[in-house]
Amino acid sequence: MKSAIYPGSFDPVTLGHLDIIKRSATLCDELIVGVLNNSTKTPLFSVDERVNMLKEVTKDIPNVKVMSFSGLLVDFARQQNVQVIIRGLRAVTDFEYELALSQTNHAINSDVDTLFLTTSIEFSYLSSSMVKEIAMYGGDISKFVPTPVIDRMYAKYHG
Ligand code: ADP
Repeated sequence: MKSAIYPGSFDPVTLGHLDIIKRSATLCDELIVGVLNNSTKTPLFSVDERVNMLKEVTKDIPNVKVMSFSGLLVDFARQQNVQVIIRGLRAVTDFEYELALSQTNHAINSDVDTLFLTTSIEFSYLSSSMVKEIAMYGGDISKFVPTPVIDRMYAKYHG
């Protein structure tokens, strides 16, 4: 594959996301990690903070580029001249939403197709929202997020 986009909120990036990034970067010449800027949810980290954390944790993977985008993912894909979207599947609970999303994207722009990578088993339960909840109550998040993210999370909740 020439290039692909891995889109998400990444609020914040977890070891589960990083696993998908590393694995998909081996499948294409260039992987664009696209940080969504117009989520309906209020994010914990600003889009710049999310982009910077992703840049830091992917700095050793030469073919990964981190960008933010707003608007429709398929429009971003068209602008970047990319035909492949990567998404991660954790459990069957992800399936219904991801199926609708990929079919909708394909209906809007038939040049774009979605490829799914299944999560590595050790991260199958991991989500950004779970990590936020643990950090909020002062729990140990070191098994769930890359090292540079740990202090920034505690700083958000506990100053
Ligand atoms: P979104 O708000 O678009 O779902 P997320 O940042 O939560 O964004 O997730 C981005 C992508 O990463 C989604 O495809 C999601 O299924 C996938 N993902 C999230 N956590 C994991 C994980 N632990 N293992 C594999 N894929 C994951």
